[in-house]
Amino acid sequence: MNNFSEIIDSIKKYNKIIVLRHTNPDPDALGSQKGLANAITEAFPDKEVLIGGNDAQGLKWLSTMDEVKDSDFEGSLVIVTDTANTERIDDDRYNSGDFLIKIDHHPNDDAYGDQLFVNTDASSSSEIIADLIESSNELKLSKTVAYYLYAGIVGDTGRFLYPATTQHTMNIAGEFIALGIDSAGINQHMNEITLPQAKLQGALFDRLKIDESGAAVAVIDTDLINKLGLTREQANSVVSTPGRLKEVHSWLEAVEKEDGTFRMHLRSQGPTINGLAKEHNGGGHPLASGADAKDLAEVEQMFQELIEIVNNYYKKGE
Ligand code: AMP
Repeated sequence: MNNFSEIIDSIKKYNKIIVLRHTNPDPDALGSQKGLANAITEAFPDKEVLIGGNDAQGLKWLSTMDEVKDSDFEGSLVIVTDTANTERIDDDRYNSGDFLIKIDHHPNDDAYGDQLFVNTDASSSSEIIADLIESSNELKLSKTVAYYLYAGIVGDTGRFLYPATTQHTMNIAGEFIALGIDSAGINQHMNEITLPQAKLQGALFDRLKIDESGAAVAVIDTDLINKLGLTREQANSVVSTPGRLKEVHSWLEAVEKEDGTFRMHLRSQGPTINGLAKEHNGGGHPLASGADAKDLAEVEQMFQELIEIVNNYYKKGE
């Protein structure tokens, strides 16, 4: 594991820097990527800094990507934020630069890169970027940089509600607000849903299967997505919704993909669920993970496994 000053030294060494993040980006992926890129550009205007990956339709208000050509990678420094493993990096060319750095807050199961900084205690990768900037004499926390990092922190903490929110997280967010960022505007963007998404919330509660252990599962299939006129990305907006129910402690949301398989979202308020995610081709944080299921039978199998995890957790009186 490297320290911040070694990472800053690498940033200083390269004239061309490409910042990447994970596929299906969330606000923390985009906020840490764009916040870091802007901080580097502002401190070193002569460097060429590009951000890469596919645009997230619903998050274009936050950030859109640059066009990154194969030739841009030649002799470049590539920094990947918020991405636990190489398969999830949203650009297959991530290894074709001169030097690779990983900066992340997920468990470090895949310790890729020539340098890496991982802090699983951080609320978000955006919080780590704020710490990196704070540690450096060259990088500065401008209002623009703070805007992106704030969006990332708000996204990954569920607006400061999840347990990973610490005093440090709040102090950093306070600094951002002191710089005059439009925090209310960001919160409005994050809070806003469309009418079809609101209808999906209703349908979700109708479909939610809740076991007496407190484990729950909901399947959002293609029929429902089409009936409501939603994109799959929009369907992801209800992932945290079951957690509002008193009866639910840990839950699975299965969103059917175009090929008939399911993208699994795992969430928990206590029992650790990233082991279950790993057994189903996924991974993530102890209380928030993603995985894949090939069919409804595997969704049901995961539900039964989740029930067992929740039962064991409460049996041990945790
Ligand atoms: P999601 O349910 O897609 O919002 O993902 C929840 C968390 O798990 C996020 O922090 C993701 O970055 C992480 N995650 C999702 N899928 C994977 C995977 N296949 N491998 C590692 N981490 C993942």
